[in-house]
Amino acid sequence: MTDVRNVIIIGSGPAGYTAALYTARASLKPLVFEGAVTAGGALMNTTDVENFPGFRDGIMGPDLMDNMRAQAERFGAELIPDDVIAVNLTGDIKTVTDTAGTVHRAKAVIVTTGSQHRKLGLPNEDTLSGRGVSWCATCDGFFFKDQDIAVIGGGDTAMEEATFLSRFAKSVTIVHRRDTLRASKAMQDRAFADPKIKFAWDSEVAEIHGEQKLSGLTLRNTKTGETSPLAVTGLFIAVGHDPRTELFKGQLDLDSEGYLTVDAPSTRTNQPGVFGAGDVVDHTYRQAITAAGTGCSAALDAERYLAALS
Ligand code: FAD
Repeated sequence: MTDVRNVIIIGSGPAGYTAALYTARASLKPLVFEGAVTAGGALMNTTDVENFPGFRDGIMGPDLMDNMRAQAERFGAELIPDDVIAVNLTGDIKTVTDTAGTVHRAKAVIVTTGSQHRKLGLPNEDTLSGRGVSWCATCDGFFFKDQDIAVIGGGDTAMEEATFLSRFAKSVTIVHRRDTLRASKAMQDRAFADPKIKFAWDSEVAEIHGEQKLSGLTLRNTKTGETSPLAVTGLFIAVGHDPRTELFKGQLDLDSEGYLTVDAPSTRTNQPGVFGAGDVVDHTYRQAITAAGTGCSAALDAERYLAALS
C-alpha cells in the first residue's frame, strides 16, 4: 500500500497527458498509468496529424504524443507504463491496483482510458492503418481528395462519414452487410440524395489489398458468397467503438453504450472525486483536441475538488 496521493490518472492519450500537465503544474504531483502496451493512446497508431492546433505543417501522431508526455513530465508528473487492473473508487480514498498487485491510493482519480474502434479483423487492416485505412473521416478525409473511397457500416456514423467524405472524394461506396441501413431516416436520406455516394448492399470486406498503401478491396456478397473487386484507395471503417470502461462497471455510471457518464459541462462522475475525460466519455467528437480539452477540464475539476477538501 502506498502513501495517499492527490491524484491518479488512468490513461495516457491526449486527455490523460493534458490532465497530467495541468495537475502537475498545480503542484499536485499526479501519478499517471499510461497502459502497458499502448502508452500514448490512439495517436501512436497513426501518421500525420494535421488538425492539432499549433503545428502549422502537421506532426506525426507518435511525435505529438512524445511531446505531450515530455511536457507533463517536465512539471513533475510521474508516469508508469503499466495497466491498472482493479479500482475501488467508492470511498474518500480511492485505490488503483497495478499489474504487480501494488495498491496505489489517491484522493482523486481521473479516468481517461479512451475507446477502441472496432476492427474488421482482417489481415492488412493494421499495417495499412494511416496508409489508406482509417477510422476517422474528420481526421483523414482531406488526404483523399479526388479518390475513390469505401465506407464500411450502416449506422449514423457510417452515413456521416460518407457524406463528409463525398466533399473531397471522387466517389464513396458504402459497403453494408444487409440490404437496409440502421442509420436514422434523416441520415439515410442525405446519403441517398448525394450523387457521389453509391451502395454495395449485402456485402462485406473479404480482403484488403496493398503493400505500402491501400490498393483495393475484395468484397463478398453475404447472401451468395460471390466475391468482386472494389477499386478504392481509401477505406473508412465505421462499425462502432468500444469505450474502455470494463474496470469501472458497478462503480461508475455508464450509458447504454458503455461510455462513462459525467455531469456535463463538468467532468464529474457519479463518484465524488472521480472525473472522466476524452473518448471514454465522448461518443460525438472523438478528436485529439477535444480529448485534450476535456482532460484540462478534468484536471481543473480535480484541483477544485481537492482544494475544497482541505
Ligand atoms: P486514447 O488516445 O485512446 O488513450 C487512452 C489511453 O488509456 C491509452 O494509452 C490506453 O493504453 C490507456 N488505458 C486504457 N485502459 C487502461 C488501463 N486499464 N490502465 C492504464 N491505461 C489504460 N484525432 C485527431 O484529432 N486528429 C487526427 O488526425 C486523428 N487521427 C487518428 C488516427 C487513428 C488511427 C485513430 C485511431 C484516431 C485518430 N484520432 C485523431 C482520434 C484521436 O486519436 C482520439 O480522439 C484521441 O486519442 C482520444 O484521446 P483519449 O486520451 O481520450 O484516449
